[in-house]
Amino acid sequence: MIGHVDADCFYASAERVRYPSLRGIPVGVLGNQGACVIAKSYEMKAAGVKTGQPIWEAVKVCPHGVYVKRDFRWYEVLSRSMLDVVREFSPTVEYYSIDEMFFDATGVDPWSMQKTILTRVGVPVSIGVAASRTLAKLASDARKPFGCSVSAVGDFDELPVTEITGIALRSSIKLSAHDIRTVGDFRQADRQLVNRLLTKVGEGLWWELNGTPITPITISRPMHKRIARGGSVGRTTDDRDRLMGWVARNVERLVEAMFWHRYVTRKLSLWLSFKTGGWSGQTALISSTGASEMLLPAAKELFVIGWRGQPVTHMHIVADELQVIGSQQRSLFEPVKPELDELKRTVNEKLGRFTVRSAETLAINDIYGDEAYGYDICDVYGKSCF
Ligand SMILES: [Mg+2]
Repeated sequence: MIGHVDADCFYASAERVRYPSLRGIPVGVLGNQGACVIAKSYEMKAAGVKTGQPIWEAVKVCPHGVYVKRDFRWYEVLSRSMLDVVREFSPTVEYYSIDEMFFDATGVDPWSMQKTILTRVGVPVSIGVAASRTLAKLASDARKPFGCSVSAVGDFDELPVTEITGIALRSSIKLSAHDIRTVGDFRQADRQLVNRLLTKVGEGLWWELNGTPITPITISRPMHKRIARGGSVGRTTDDRDRLMGWVARNVERLVEAMFWHRYVTRKLSLWLSFKTGGWSGQTALISSTGASEMLLPAAKELFVIGWRGQPVTHMHIVADELQVIGSQQRSLFEPVKPELDELKRTVNEKLGRFTVRSAETLAINDIYGDEAYGYDICDVYGKSCF
């Protein structure tokens, strides 16, 4: 049997752990610009606030709600202690996302696990146990909030197919042309038909829904194809210094991530989003590297090529064709020794992230002064999803 743990409205619950006065009242968690509701408590959901809604609309719908900025560093602390509890119960645990884990449920009492997470971490979770991952996830979703159940094949036959993770709108349109609308329709459909419509991936879901596990629990994360760092640049800007500040910041975050995974790259891309349209460019590096001494100049060069004075809304820096340190091909050129990065790491480990950072980031000092920017969801390492 496979279990799936999923925290109930995780970000809102996490805020309630440190601010107990938020319990029982509508809580909305805002994105890093404080503009949009990215998560909400059940009370706020009941008031009609939608995820992604701008704050000025949300306060009209739910004026008595409390709105707080997201803080992924805190969410990671709670996420790791959730993981610790799950590992006490099961020897095989997959850290799927910041608030979801799959585990080998053989001999595990899920009710006891749920209670232990609540008392020790303070976060309510829903747990589903079933014969496959797909069924376990359906089970935990179906019984939210604070549900806990052991389910059998057929228990979710009434639900629409779109409730199945991996079946999005496009697939559901293909299926409905063959009168497949519910989980039950899908599970009882002809397997070969499912394969024709949704390829091998869809057939995998068919097996899983019929109780045959296809996707195992993965303890270690498969190697990334690429790593990207970036996102919104705060308020949209056409200030060259600010944008260069963001280039430097995103490269520093990328270097951190690559060091953590022991990766080097030979290909660097930059993605810029403007109010209308976007641009992306790629450059090949002279040797594989994870050092900011090589990555930062390359990223800046790309920026100069791609930016033509327009206001930028988002920026991403992507390291492609990753290799693990030591396995890369030798180059004619000596790779740069990342001395500067090592110095930054040594100091920052002791005194806090970004204590020593590129002088170019001084142009976006306001961002470093705002704690909500200190951490991003993709800075949480070791998850198997995303
Ligand atoms: Mg959740």
